[in-house]
Amino acid sequence: MRYGFVIDQDRCIGCHACTVACKEEHNVAVGVFRTWVKYIEKGEFPDVSRHFAVLRCNHCDNAPCVEICPTTALFRRPDGIVDFDNSRCIGCKSCMQACPYDALYIDPKSNTAAKCNYCAHRVETGLEPACVIVCPTQAIIPGDLDDPTSRISRTVTAQKVTARKPHKGTRPKLFYVGVDGDLLEPATLTSERAYVWSERRPDDDTYEVGASNGAAAIPGGARVVYDVAHPAPWGGKAALYLWTKSISAGALMVAAMLTTLLGVDDLTTNIVSPLAALIFTGLTSLILIADLKRPDRFYYLLTKPNFSSWLVWGCYILMAYSAAATAWLGCAIFILRVPTMLAVISAVLGIATAGYTAFLFAQAKGRELWQSSLFLWHLIVQALIAGSALLMIVGIIIGAASISYLAAMLAASIVLGFAMVLGELYLPAISEDVRRAAELITGGALSRRFWGLSTIVGVVIPLALLWIASAETGTDGAILRVIAALAALGGLAAFESIWIEAGQAVPLS
Ligand code: SF4
Repeated sequence: MRYGFVIDQDRCIGCHACTVACKEEHNVAVGVFRTWVKYIEKGEFPDVSRHFAVLRCNHCDNAPCVEICPTTALFRRPDGIVDFDNSRCIGCKSCMQACPYDALYIDPKSNTAAKCNYCAHRVETGLEPACVIVCPTQAIIPGDLDDPTSRISRTVTAQKVTARKPHKGTRPKLFYVGVDGDLLEPATLTSERAYVWSERRPDDDTYEVGASNGAAAIPGGARVVYDVAHPAPWGGKAALYLWTKSISAGALMVAAMLTTLLGVDDLTTNIVSPLAALIFTGLTSLILIADLKRPDRFYYLLTKPNFSSWLVWGCYILMAYSAAATAWLGCAIFILRVPTMLAVISAVLGIATAGYTAFLFAQAKGRELWQSSLFLWHLIVQALIAGSALLMIVGIIIGAASISYLAAMLAASIVLGFAMVLGELYLPAISEDVRRAAELITGGALSRRFWGLSTIVGVVIPLALLWIASAETGTDGAILRVIAALAALGGLAAFESIWIEAGQAVPLS
């Protein structure tokens, strides 16, 4: 059995009765929606046309929200309905990043994720979903797609139907009849501040991309004139988490390279690096928990884990990395040396700590910028930048001997990191969404921060200062190197926030 929907836009009159019936059935709060009607207009006066489509969860057979949910709060029932259990939800919002259709929202009453669940409680008692019952033109056709005699199967077989973003591989089970193609492809749409009946909500960031890019609307092109708001799920805390995690991962990666490859054995590698790893892993964990909508349930990551989610694997990796840092510190204190095997294991766990986010972001299938094949390598290089910068600052303060190695490692990783940034932004884009997000960074609303903070402060200034400092001795050289390291860390923080923002700036629906 596989329940699905057909929505016949040739019958739909855009009355919003389905939206209202759904709100009533599920007591949906003001400002959020399980199903909604989106309007677009095309053409120029007097030759203008308006089109609309009913949007909601597609009850995907290969649902990315189910894969990424760390606590199996989202799950696919045997009858094909993608349902949720809000008593398990920790409010991490990763499902909102994974869904390519903007189908999920955070319920402001429970602070947990919610979406259309096909009125599973009604279906179980033989009733049809509330939106189906209320539709005055029978435009919403529910039913079992596996039953060839059902009305939905006959409609899908006999009529030309369209699904949203089939290239995402989600195998959606919501099909449209007679829908205008532009309604299902947000990358082709432009949007204005004012809708047909209202202003757009100020927190609806996603549609800023066209306007803030300075991208002129195509005359007569399709434009959104009514929609619901889809605020970006992740903000500054996600960027901060990436930054602290880079420092944490880099601390032991850099120290392991110095001890095993160059034979460095000083206070920086033995004590400072494991302490930095422990402190910044702790900070990373605290930021992760603070970013949850239900921080009181953070331990569900361990007690109700979904092992297909990289959020869960990230949690285990952070714990293993902390254990390695503790062992490193213990060996340095009690046996006065760090065994090579421990350094190698710590370096591997450091790479895992830096890199697991690439796999998590790859599960965020809705965000195409984050699908970059360079992202894993970029995260590892970012950790090298952050680790060498931090160790160099502390090393200079405590008078460590390994400063020239750290300076060389910082300069090399900054150059490598910037080459990866250029690759991510300027190599041929795999999709229109990636092109738009990259354009936002290089020439749009985020460009000042990108060129000013991330590039000049984070790349040009540190490289210049490190080069000047290489010819200096004594205090002047030390001061220049500390400033270079601080600038590199600042530039990295700026890049993380730009990456998080740009990835979510392109509308999904
Ligand atoms: Fe629904 Fe989105 Fe999950 Fe697909 S990915 S089942 S559309 S919430």
